[in-house]
Amino acid sequence: MGKILDLAEDLWVGRKDTFSHHPFGVPRGLELINEHNSQRTWFYRGFSNSVIRETNEGLIIVDPGADFDVEKKFKAVREVTSQKVNTVIFTHGHVDHIGIKPYLEECEDNNWPIPRIIAHEAILNRFDRYKLTNSWNAYINLRQFRGDKGEPAFTKDFCYPNLTYRDELAIQIGGVRVQLKHSRGETDDHTWVYFSDTNILCTGDLFIWGIPNAGNPQKVQRYAHEWALALLEMKKYNPQILCPGHGVPIISQERVNEALDNTALLLESLHTQTISLMNKGASLDTIIHTVKAPDELFKKPYLKPVYDEPEFIVRNIWRLYGGWYDGTPSNLKPAPEIVQANEITNLAGGAVKLADRALELMNAGELRMACHLAEWAWLSSPNNKYVSEITSKVFTTRAKKESSTMAIGIYLSAARKMGGDPDKEMPGRTIMQAQDLKNQSE
Ligand SMILES: [Zn+2]
Repeated sequence: MGKILDLAEDLWVGRKDTFSHHPFGVPRGLELINEHNSQRTWFYRGFSNSVIRETNEGLIIVDPGADFDVEKKFKAVREVTSQKVNTVIFTHGHVDHIGIKPYLEECEDNNWPIPRIIAHEAILNRFDRYKLTNSWNAYINLRQFRGDKGEPAFTKDFCYPNLTYRDELAIQIGGVRVQLKHSRGETDDHTWVYFSDTNILCTGDLFIWGIPNAGNPQKVQRYAHEWALALLEMKKYNPQILCPGHGVPIISQERVNEALDNTALLLESLHTQTISLMNKGASLDTIIHTVKAPDELFKKPYLKPVYDEPEFIVRNIWRLYGGWYDGTPSNLKPAPEIVQANEITNLAGGAVKLADRALELMNAGELRMACHLAEWAWLSSPNNKYVSEITSKVFTTRAKKESSTMAIGIYLSAARKMGGDPDKEMPGRTIMQAQDLKNQSE
C-alpha cells in the first residue's frame, strides 16, 4: 500500500484522526487503487480528489482537478499512462473539481479531439452564477479558507460541459460501463459515478471524510434529506471502493456500506429533529440550540466536524423550508448593528468595561457570549487600542477552540478585522495555509 491507502487504514481504525489529518490535507499524490483486465484505476489525492480509469478507448477522468493544482495532477497522470482522455466527468461545479486546462491543451497540441465532458445540467446555471457573483465568491472563499489573509481571487475560466444530463446517464467506454446519477445534496448539480466492473464508487462531495458540507454558512442552499437518500441509493450498488471528493478512499464493501449508512443516518437525524421542531412552531434560536447530532454517529472517524458542523446544517435545513425571518421579532427590522453596539456599550459603562467582561467570559469558557460582547465593544470603539487587542484576542481564542474550517475561517477573519494578527498565534490552522506550508516543503 502507498501512503494514501496507509492513511486511509489508519483513519478508519482510529490510529489517526481527521482533526490532524484534514480531508483537504496531505499526503498528496497518485496511487493505484485497482487493476481489472489490465486496466488500471488511480486515485489522486489533492485538495480535491481525482479518479483516473484506463479503458480500451482512452481514459475516463472523474474530477480532473482545481485550476490551482490540475497541472500537477496532469503531470502525475502522464507519468503512469499515455492513453488519450476519452471522457471527463465533473461531479459538480465547485471550482476545485473543474480544472481541465492541461488536458485541453494536450488535445490541441496533438490534434486530438476534445474529450467528452459530462456534467449535470444544473452546472450551466452554476457557472453563469459564478460569473455574475465572481468577486463575492472571491471574498467568501478567502474568509472560509484563509481567514481573510491575502487577496481575494476566484476562477473566471469555466469549461462548460459538452454533454449534460438530468436524472441519470449510462455510458459505455471501451467495454467499461459507467453509471452517472444525479442527486441534490452539497449542490444542486451533483453527480455520483459508479464503475460496475470494478465496483468503484465516486461520490463527489457527497462524501468527504467529515460531517457533510450541508450547512456552509457562506454558500448557497444545500439539501440534507435528498443527500441522505442518495447515499442509501449508492449502497444498493454494493460498491467495494469508495473514492470521496476529499479525503482518502474507503476500501471494502463492509466499510463502504457502513460509511454510507451512517452518513445518511446523521443527515436524516438532523433533518427529522429540525422539521419536528419547525412543525411545533419553534424559532430558529430554539432549534439551533436544541438539535444535536447523535453521539454514536458523531464519533465515527469519517463524520467529525472538521469542515462543516451540525449547527450549520440545522440552519440550512431551516432555510430550505422556512423564510429568512428567524422567529425573533426584533430581528425582523433590526436597528443597525452600530446603533445597537453604542446603546449596549453606554449601558455597560463603556467599551473597555464591555471588553473586560468579554475577556472574563472567554477565560470562563463562555465563548459564544464573549464574542457578542467583544463585537459590541469593538463596533462602538474601533479605534481604541486596548479594546481592539482584547476583542481580537477573544476571536482568535474562539478560532483556536473551533474544529471546523468554516468556523475557524470566519473567526480568524473577525480577529484580523479587529486589528489582531491571528496567524502568529495559530499558524497553519486554516486549511489553505496548511496546504501552502506543505507546498513550500515539497
Ligand atoms: Zn469539493
